[in-house]
Amino acid sequence: MPDESPVPALPGPEQRWRCSRCGNLTRFDVTRRSRVTEYWHFDLPGSPAVESADVLEEVVERVRCRWCESTADVELVPRA
Ligand SMILES: [Zn+2]
Repeated sequence: MPDESPVPALPGPEQRWRCSRCGNLTRFDVTRRSRVTEYWHFDLPGSPAVESADVLEEVVERVRCRWCESTADVELVPRA
């Protein structure tokens, strides 16, 4: 069954997330989808390293409280 919970906005510099069901402020599972262009640099033996990445698109699909597992009660609040 698809999760129809609203997704909270990403917190800005003056904000944070809070689970209004259990009060959790610090631990969340964030499911997100992104499209990136990465610069892959291979060394001579052939091992790659990603040296930079441009994020072209990023969509947060779900934010779930780690304590009570709610996906419907995470809200933006101002930082103390
Ligand atoms: Zn919670």
